[in-house]
Amino acid sequence: MSTFLFDRIIFGPVSSRRFGRSLGINLLPTTHKVCTFNCIYCECGLTFDEIDKNREWPTRDEVKNKLKLRLENILRNNEPLPDNITFAGNGEPTLHPAFVGIIDDVLELRNQYCPRTRITVLSNATIADNPLIREALMKVDNNVLKLDVGTEELFRMINRPLKATKLEDIIHNLIQFKGQLIIQSMFVRGYINGHIIDNTVVAETTPWLEALLRIKPKEVMVYSIARDTPVDGLKPVPHTQLFRIANMLRMAGLKAEVY
Ligand code: SF4
Repeated sequence: MSTFLFDRIIFGPVSSRRFGRSLGINLLPTTHKVCTFNCIYCECGLTFDEIDKNREWPTRDEVKNKLKLRLENILRNNEPLPDNITFAGNGEPTLHPAFVGIIDDVLELRNQYCPRTRITVLSNATIADNPLIREALMKVDNNVLKLDVGTEELFRMINRPLKATKLEDIIHNLIQFKGQLIIQSMFVRGYINGHIIDNTVVAETTPWLEALLRIKPKEVMVYSIARDTPVDGLKPVPHTQLFRIANMLRMAGLKAEVY
């Protein structure tokens, strides 16, 4: 099925289900996805190989200058200001070698040009065991980190980490944020390579909820696929089911929203 890559560093603003009018920042190369996961639902397509540090990353100065120009244009043209400046794009943004410095630059520009705009980072938290990455993520308004599953088996089938990362490693990283995080959880179902995949079943949502109670996030974003996926056979989960999952979280004392 068709997927797409962002072809520039700064994109949008686009209209986002979760982040309103969202000005995107893509820190990844524009030619291919770079990620530590290979999620079966990733709208940027499949991850084909190991992370290569020599990929063509945009430089820290390039990112800063392009964002500055875009914000100046928005103000000059009297366009509505973005609700969010969102780090998304072609893979995992924290892999950028200058991620920590770029966060400081973006905070500075936001404060200068649009102080009411929120800064959001979407990450899979794989390298959030690095204290510098963790501290950078804790500086932004919306530190949105992924946890889709409750079992190692489904972690390997849905998120498909490229290295020996275990689900418990990710949960451990998420706990280190001491509640300063939002969890995003993608729900999918389908029949892929001879396996039934469904993270909405009780056998998955029960250990997932137990992990969330250890992590104590500010909020859990519950959602399903809305675009093409790189793997055939995947279906969106109906909203009624997503609401049931969100209600389960609320009954356990967690804040949850369906998108
Ligand atoms: S973590 Fe995000 S970017 Fe990486 S494969 Fe999964 S959906 Fe795609």
